[in-house]
Amino acid sequence: MPRLVIISNRAPSLDGAGDSGGLVVALKDALKSRGGLWIGGAPATSENPSPTILMHERPDFDIGLFELEPQLQHDYYLGYSNSVLWPAFHGRLDLIDVREHYTSAYKEVARRLAEMVAKVIADDDILWIHDYQLIPLAFELKKLGVSNKMGFFLHIPLPDLQTFKAIPNWMELSEWFAAFDMVGFQTRRDLAHMIDIFRQTMRGELRFNGNIDINGREISLGCYPISIDVKGFAEMAAEKAQTVDPARLTRLIGVDRLDYSKGLPQRLAGYEQFLADYPDYCGKVSLLQIAPPTRDNVEAYQDIREEMEATSGRINGRFGTIDWVPVQYMHRALPRDELAVLYRYSYICLVTPLFDGMNLVAKEFVAAQDPEDPGVLLLSQFAGAAEEMKEAVIINPHDPHGLSRAIKQALDMSLEERKERHNALYERLAANDVSKWSAEFLRRLEKPAGIPGARHPSLKLPDVPFHAGQ
Ligand code: ADP
Repeated sequence: MPRLVIISNRAPSLDGAGDSGGLVVALKDALKSRGGLWIGGAPATSENPSPTILMHERPDFDIGLFELEPQLQHDYYLGYSNSVLWPAFHGRLDLIDVREHYTSAYKEVARRLAEMVAKVIADDDILWIHDYQLIPLAFELKKLGVSNKMGFFLHIPLPDLQTFKAIPNWMELSEWFAAFDMVGFQTRRDLAHMIDIFRQTMRGELRFNGNIDINGREISLGCYPISIDVKGFAEMAAEKAQTVDPARLTRLIGVDRLDYSKGLPQRLAGYEQFLADYPDYCGKVSLLQIAPPTRDNVEAYQDIREEMEATSGRINGRFGTIDWVPVQYMHRALPRDELAVLYRYSYICLVTPLFDGMNLVAKEFVAAQDPEDPGVLLLSQFAGAAEEMKEAVIINPHDPHGLSRAIKQALDMSLEERKERHNALYERLAANDVSKWSAEFLRRLEKPAGIPGARHPSLKLPDVPFHAGQ
């Protein structure tokens, strides 16, 4: 079996700390069974970065770190990746900050990384490259004559063609995507956008096997919804719950990085509307919003932080009493087991993104519930997770009145209906957990391109998981 080489913006820690939450859980099995190398950015920048990848051994897989100088790291990561691609791919063109030195830094990192990667891979290694920070990597590797199989997974959404074309170097972006042998997305929504972008920008032609032909080269496209370790998370929540007392109030919970894509102001607006519409609930419910900081040195993130602090303060001022605080707002991260038990003891989870690749919080909340007395998930129609999690109460985050009614609906929901919805959600999650995600992606990547008899995605859209070209 060929070795697997994962390449992402950040590598896992050398000592395994922090493995439990991220991508490591998803890729651990695959790396273990075939032997693997994970290449990612070093945790710290260096004024004199090493010209080669720094190799380290872990018992489960090897880690290769690449270093960047602080200015380049800033312009590549906070600049082009998070001030252009992140907002644009989340449909927030009003927030993009286009600067030419950001674009050049982004390309420079891919060029340098390609040179370093080319020196450490073997001919039959399979390369799996992750996320929007590294879209040009296959293009750069191919320029160096590297001909290994290269797959790419986009963890965030891909916008529609018009939004995509607002990014000044959209044509280059298209070419970079087209350099991979396979590109995977979270949802059918994103997959459809990719097909449209390839068709309109590169005269891509869809084949009946679901691949797209660009200048005589076939690229596999598929949709592979990412998940969590469902059983592990469920067990952790159940165990930890035995050591903690349930909350006194009926709790609504929100857990998100403090990001403008998560619809946090819209969530508070819906909750405020609910308190105004149903005053009998004042003093009986509370919203716990946990929102750890992220990308603090980007202006748009400072703005959302101020907005959240002001809005939660305003709601507390408007409705609060001496012995009741309507919104508890925590601006920090929590250990995963504490999070799990908070989910379990919450009656409602509010997941209200305006645009989200998947949203793992929705899946964690469902996994953490007591099946005999489960809480209700309110899920934005714009979260990738909504394609799979149809039994959640699906909401439109832009409509505070609808959100207010949905909160009331969840609070009134009978135990029987809650159990029915939860059971359906849990079963589907358990059948499609994160090890399946990586196994399916790799299975497809290793297949030769162009599988006869497979069907075009628009001819048949089965229930998730869905993979074009199979
Ligand atoms: P994104 O990847 O855009 O941040 P997801 O919902 O897919 O959104 O994933 C967020 C992850 O971060 C989840 O695993 C969630 O548990 C974790 N997380 C979010 N907020 C906190 C917090 N306050 N403390 C600890 N973990 C958190």
